[in-house]
Amino acid sequence: MYRIRFHGRGGQGIKTASRILGSALFAEGYEVQDAPRYGAERRGAPIFAYVRADRAPVYERGIIDHPDLVVVTDESLVQVPAAAVMTGLCDRSVLVIASAAEPELWQQRLGVTCRVLTLPPGPGEGAALMGAASVGAAAKLIGQISAANLEGAIRAELEGLPSDVIERNVGRALESFDSFESHAGCVSEGEALTRASATPPAWVELEVEPTSISAPAIRGEATSEQVQTGLWRTMRPVIDDSLCNHCSWICSTLCPDAAIDVGSDREPIIDYEHCKGCLLCVAVCPSHAIVVEPERAVDEHRSDP
Ligand code: SF4
Ligand code: SF4
Repeated sequence: MYRIRFHGRGGQGIKTASRILGSALFAEGYEVQDAPRYGAERRGAPIFAYVRADRAPVYERGIIDHPDLVVVTDESLVQVPAAAVMTGLCDRSVLVIASAAEPELWQQRLGVTCRVLTLPPGPGEGAALMGAASVGAAAKLIGQISAANLEGAIRAELEGLPSDVIERNVGRALESFDSFESHAGCVSEGEALTRASATPPAWVELEVEPTSISAPAIRGEATSEQVQTGLWRTMRPVIDDSLCNHCSWICSTLCPDAAIDVGSDREPIIDYEHCKGCLLCVAVCPSHAIVVEPERAVDEHRSDP
């Protein structure tokens, strides 16, 4: 059975990539299962999606713990513990990271013994096509999918989108597919999980609580402010005052969490206690005055003497 995990950020087409790969494998005669996994949906948040494919019916369920192939579409995720990119990699796994750095450098950084490959972003390529590039790479590395079935799966999945978007995605996926020719078929199938080899879960016993504790009625008003959604953030929007023209309402109005206030001089003020890091404000600012910094970098900067 092939077990594949895609890791990326919300908005990079990770869920779509897993669906396309699943459809292409299905077209090749495989029994397939694909599923995304994410929490509260927002752009920029770490998410993953997984695909299982076998010639026999797939009865295995749940998150893939021991992947044959892991594809990471955003290299900054490798250092985010919550993204769990490295979980379950073993010597025979293949790890693909979207990065301009050399694979050997990643191998040293991560201290892994598995095969590491990199998927360099195309010139001026934004995050939007990384899903297509990833699925093209995965299809070639698995070595069981023809270019025609890959293209057919992309067209079926993206049906309804503008034709130029579909063509860009098909073009990027096929380009990536061809670029991994020298590694075609390097992903090997993992062992089927049998009843005897399955490890039972470590059950957590919970004491029975009174209903008033386990199912409390919340009657207070305006309590949402107490939810610190700022803790969800992995990427932080930062306003560059030299570029902001104080248009006032665009970022402030469109922030889905009302986390941008407008000051007395019409300057935007981000409430980092509640900004969840969806980065919508970055996309809508007409002056490109909002830049993105990884939270980790901000923390390190803060701890500088
Ligand atoms: S949308 Fe951009 S230019 Fe307008 S107030 Fe916000 S940061 Fe400033
Ligand atoms: S300020 Fe609002 S729009 Fe910008 S990242 Fe935070 S939650 Fe998203």
